Amino acid sequence: MACIVQKFGGTSVATLERIKHVAELIAEAHTTKRVAVVVSAMAGVTNKFVEYAQNLGSFEGDADYDSVVSSGELVTAGLLAITLKNMGFKSRSYAGWQIPIETSSNYGSAVIQSVNPTNLERDLHEGIIPVVCGFQGISSENRITTLGRGGSDLTAVAVSDALKADLCEIYSDVDGVYTVDPNLYPQACRIDKIHYNEMKEMAALGAKVLQEQSVDYAMKKNVRIRVASSFVENKGTIISSDLTDRKFSGLAITQNLSQFKIIHELESHLPIIELLEQYFIRCEVLKVSNGKFSILVDRTKIPLMQGILSKESCILNVKREMIRKNFSRISVIGSGFTQCDREKLISVLRKAKIEVFCCSIRENGINLVVLTENLLKSIDILHKSCGLRE
Ligand code: ASP
Ligand code: MG
Repeated sequence: MACIVQKFGGTSVATLERIKHVAELIAEAHTTKRVAVVVSAMAGVTNKFVEYAQNLGSFEGDADYDSVVSSGELVTAGLLAITLKNMGFKSRSYAGWQIPIETSSNYGSAVIQSVNPTNLERDLHEGIIPVVCGFQGISSENRITTLGRGGSDLTAVAVSDALKADLCEIYSDVDGVYTVDPNLYPQACRIDKIHYNEMKEMAALGAKVLQEQSVDYAMKKNVRIRVASSFVENKGTIISSDLTDRKFSGLAITQNLSQFKIIHELESHLPIIELLEQYFIRCEVLKVSNGKFSILVDRTKIPLMQGILSKESCILNVKREMIRKNFSRISVIGSGFTQCDREKLISVLRKAKIEVFCCSIRENGINLVVLTENLLKSIDILHKSCGLRE
């Protein structure tokens, strides 16, 4: 009998009614397969707990912060197990430590070290549906850990690997991975299947469908994932090591970028970039010339950056900063990209009189930076010229 793991995100378990609906989906799968379940906290609950902890001055890194923010999952797991039992199934809930899912001691962003499949395998063998809290683990210090925001996806992938499941199904309120965010571009199409590498690029660039680390883990352990919606029925998107024959898969968009020009008297701009990185400010270098350079940064980081630069100005000799607002990055995702692909994309935009301010290329991505006022037009042009409509 095939074995699958089904993971349900916060909106899928947001109310008792939604939990009932999820239980029905599980029941249906259970008729032909062995099913282990992983759940998130009910929508909004983790945010609330993060706020409580932070109001008391507790942040990621503090073990008690993890005790607080992990607790939403326990409620969902219990409620879902109760619902399944009310429907006549055998079920039981598990906290992460009861599996156990052993992790490092980086509270707030712990790394999974091992998942013991013994309890889950016994349950599956006895026809019991185990419901596991996502997001949680236990450290060697015997404390509860959490796996970073969105970490239930990682739990689902790790449990799938431990059980050697045939498929890891991730249910949320989106019905798959799209060629581009449908909220920005309604003509976007659902992608039937996508390779781990491309999905990793998308997740890293902020496509909210899957937590980035979960894609990494799945790729390393070759866990096949299906992303689908618990609200509407369709095939969703399969994420696997299967290669597709298309070159382009989709566009990932980052908005709210600002160009920041720095004029300095250093021999190189690198000490300034290194300084910003110490404060976790990720920036992309746009242009460098003697004594000045410009970078692209998330607009919300600008006040922090200005503070850092003025604090260190006597060491760094920073003379002047200038801000030009409203840039967006379009990352074209695909495989086997060459310089020639990069030139082609730039030229289609230029033909439409859209200036490309910066363009970098990796094997699975080409980043194009345009003014935000040209974003929608650029998406339309690229979506069509990359053949993403088929
Ligand atoms: N509840 C956790 C969060 O909101 C984990 C998850 O939902 O994946 O980040
Ligand atoms: Mg999520």
